[in-house]
Amino acid sequence: MEIATKLHHIEQKIETSARKFGRSPNSIQLLAVSKTKPASMVQHAYDAGQRHFGENYLQDALEKIEALPLEGIVWHFIGAIQSNKTRTISEKFDWVHGIERLKIARRLGEQRPAERGPLNLCIQLNSSGEESKSGISFEALPELAMQISQLPGVRLRGLMTLPAPAKELDQQRLPFRRLHQAMAQLNQQGLSLDTLSMGMSGDLEAAIAEGATLVRIGTDIFGARQ
Ligand SMILES: *Cc1c(COP(=O)(O)O)cnc(C)c1O
Repeated sequence: MEIATKLHHIEQKIETSARKFGRSPNSIQLLAVSKTKPASMVQHAYDAGQRHFGENYLQDALEKIEALPLEGIVWHFIGAIQSNKTRTISEKFDWVHGIERLKIARRLGEQRPAERGPLNLCIQLNSSGEESKSGISFEALPELAMQISQLPGVRLRGLMTLPAPAKELDQQRLPFRRLHQAMAQLNQQGLSLDTLSMGMSGDLEAAIAEGATLVRIGTDIFGARQ
């Protein structure tokens, strides 16, 4: 199946899920996760109207960013961040989703070129306990969020999670609900976060049910990865 067709299917799935849970489809942004896939596939998706792309591996991403200087394209870094790579990430991307440490957020802000405006950040939460190695605990969130929200050069936009896989919709919804509640609490404490980065090919509907504003879809757009 062509990428344009698969994109269209995902957009329809987002729309159907949004309506089912009483939400506006326009409140949900589709992030096409193109990690490990060639620039030509990103170009096809762009030609079909897709603008937001997610990448995990810096070198792989940089080649595509260089090869595709396309009008209005928005690059999101969604992988693990090494502290010696913050400068490149801060210069080349528009969003970073996997923030777990103040030090990394501070460096990204310090290294952000002023003319590009603040870098958008999401804090990654561990919503699956010991089954997951990445993300901070919900207990540690308020302090980190308050500290990051004071930093220059970055703008804290919201929360991100990548839960352990679960089969049933009800089970899938639990971690996403916690993320939504955590964002609401931070906003009550004076922050103005607007992004819940949650939901992938296997748990899209559950994430939309719980308020996702940005869904990260790879396999269902670009096919399985090696
Ligand atoms: C790979 C990846 C995705 C996309 O996952 P699919 O199951 O292929 O849709 C989303 N988010 C993150 C953080 C990823 O690493």
